[in-house]
Parts: sequence; C-alpha cells; structure tokens
Amino acid sequence: MEKIVVLGSGPAGLTAAIYTARAGLSPLVLEGGSPMGILAQAARVDNYPGVAVGTSGFDLMLAMHTQAEALGVRFELEEAVSITPMDDEKGFVLRLSSGESIETESVLLAMGASPKPLEIPGAKELEGRGVSHCSVCDGMFFKGKDVAVIGDGEAALVDAEYLAGICKKVWLINKHTEFIASDLIIRRVKALENIEMLNETIPLEVLQEDGKKSVGGVVLRDLNESKERVLPISGLFIAKGSGRTPNSLWLNELVDLDEYGFVIANDGQTSRKGIFVAGDLLSGSIKQAVTAAASGCVAAFAIGKFLKNKGQK
Ligand SMILES: Cc1cc2nc3c(=O)[nH]c(=O)nc-3n(C[C@H](O)[C@H](O)[C@H](O)COP(=O)(O)OP(=O)(O)OC[C@H]3O[C@@H](n4cnc5c(N)ncnc54)[C@H](O)[C@@H]3O)c2cc1C
Repeated sequence: MEKIVVLGSGPAGLTAAIYTARAGLSPLVLEGGSPMGILAQAARVDNYPGVAVGTSGFDLMLAMHTQAEALGVRFELEEAVSITPMDDEKGFVLRLSSGESIETESVLLAMGASPKPLEIPGAKELEGRGVSHCSVCDGMFFKGKDVAVIGDGEAALVDAEYLAGICKKVWLINKHTEFIASDLIIRRVKALENIEMLNETIPLEVLQEDGKKSVGGVVLRDLNESKERVLPISGLFIAKGSGRTPNSLWLNELVDLDEYGFVIANDGQTSRKGIFVAGDLLSGSIKQAVTAAASGCVAAFAIGKFLKNKGQK
C-alpha cells in the first residue's frame, strides 16, 4: 500500500511530491497525459520567483522534475481513471488507464484545468490543423507565415511575442480596449513591428484553406463598427486567460466540487478524508504556477498530518 499517490506532475503535484519525499513519505506521482503539466507549454515565464527572466516553462518544469527525482520521487506515465474508497477508511483503490490498480492511504488531486476550446464554427474541426493552444509546441509549423493570437491577458501577449520571432506577421485579437497584463509585456509587444493589435474585435469563424484541411483565415467582427472582415492567416493560437475546464469530471461524487467543477478544500483537505487537492484544480485558486506550487506545499503538510494521525490510531 502506497502512503501518498500524487495525480499530476505540474507545479502543484511536483511541489507536493518534493515536500512529501523530504518528509519520508515516498510519494508516487502519476503524470497523466501531460508530464510536467501545462506550464511546460509556456514560451517564457517571467513571474516565477527565482528564475531568470525569459526562462521557458519547459525548462522551469524540467528543473522541478529533476529536483523531485533527485529526492527519490517515483514517477509513472499513467492516468488515474477512478478512485474508490476502501472499507474501514483504510485507503483508496486507484484504477489506472492501463487497467492496473494501486492501493494508497491518501491521494493528492493535482490534475489542473484544461484550456476551453474556442466555441466558434470551424475551430473544433481545424484543431491541430492550424488551430492551436500552444505557441511553443506549434509555432515552428508557421515559420514565415501570418498567424493570429486570440486573448486578452498576459498569456496572449507572451504568445504573440514568441510567435513574432518565428512568423512573418502576428495579429493580436482582443475583445477589450486594453490587455489585462503587466505594463512590461505590453510595452515589449507594442515595440515589435510585426505584431498588430486588433482591439475590440472578436473572432466569428475559422475558415479552411481552399482544397486543404488547414486554417486559411478567420472572420472577425469589429465591435465598434459592427463590421466583419476576413483575415487571411495560416495559424490561430488560442490564449484566452479565462475559461479553463477543471480535470475533475471522472471524480464523480468522490469530493465536493464548486459550480464550475473545481474541487473545494480547506488547507488542501477536500470533503473526503485522505483526499487532498492543490493547484489550478482547487476552487477559488489563482491560476498561476507560483500559487499552484504554494498550494502543493500546503497540501503536503496536510497529508503529512493526516498520515501521522492515521498511524497513531
Ligand atoms: C500557455 C500558458 C502559459 C502560462 N504562463 C504562465 C506564466 O507565465 N506564469 C504562471 O505563473 N502561470 C502561467 N500559466 C498557468 C500555469 O501553467 C498553471 O497555473 C499551472 O501549470 C497549474 O499547475 P497545476 O500543477 O495545478 O496543473 P497543471 O500544470 O495543469 O498539471 C496538471 C497535471 O495533471 C496531470 N493529470 C491530469 N489528469 C490526470 C489524471 N487523471 N491522472 C493523473 N494525472 C493527471 C497532467 O498530465 C499534468 O501533469 C500558463 C498557462 C498556459 C496554458
């Protein structure tokens, strides 16, 4: 029987794994479909304390992963599909996508939240064929081409800046009059000649390139003039800061969720004894790497206390 199984290897899961490993609890981390989490897709991370400005999300997450490995954390490239409480509050049985199962005294839910798809015609059909949620993963496919980024926050500006170094032209489509982001990144993006900002503009439809199953353009509406126009582009990057879907669907009624499906907890402890939560999946949390890591630490302490009390019974 494991003492603690951590679901997810983003900043929340890895921080909890580091703390519980150092507390002698020998954590096992199931990494799911995105080892090192969603931040590994970020072009650059300038707001995580202690790292050089311009560090990529991948490098930051690799450093966390390497640190955890060095402390003896065990990793498996597995995804949990169900958690069943055992009789007499002994622990839980985790069923994995491979069909195997693991018994554990406690579980940390650190599965994060996935970006919501763009709900306009053409977007779903062209997902992976020009419509992307990850500039770092897909940017190089659009070398020398024209692309657009949709979003109103820091992530959209960072993506646009990154893509400007690869693509010929980057259109930045923002439905508001201003960006909800730091002055620094706004100034940097405004200084780049191949980025053009289209404020108060929304996308209406993603168009397919003639005769090919790839993006050929996007239909835009100018909210001021109620005018529509087609922007010819080869790639459309979705960087909407708001609108994440918590990866909690498969939990069923195991723990209490808020109205959006995020897990409710108090200092990491969910409504069910022995099940803890941290990171973007936590109800009411600020969806940032540093807060995810911090809540992973809080949960690790709660897990340690829970296991100690359980051992004394
Ligand atoms: C493009 C982009 C740029 C960003 N830039 C910044 C930034 O500059 N600064 C910043 O602070 N934040 C940034 N963020 C936000 C930051 O990435 C998140 O807040 C943070 O990664 C949340 O960490 P987490 O550990 O909660 O979840 P995640 O990082 O999302 O990790 C979730 C983990 O859970 C695993 N998982 C999912 N389901 C299961 C399952 N059933 N079983 C097992 N494992 C599972 C996944 O494989 C993954 O390993 C950015 C996000 C994006 C998308």
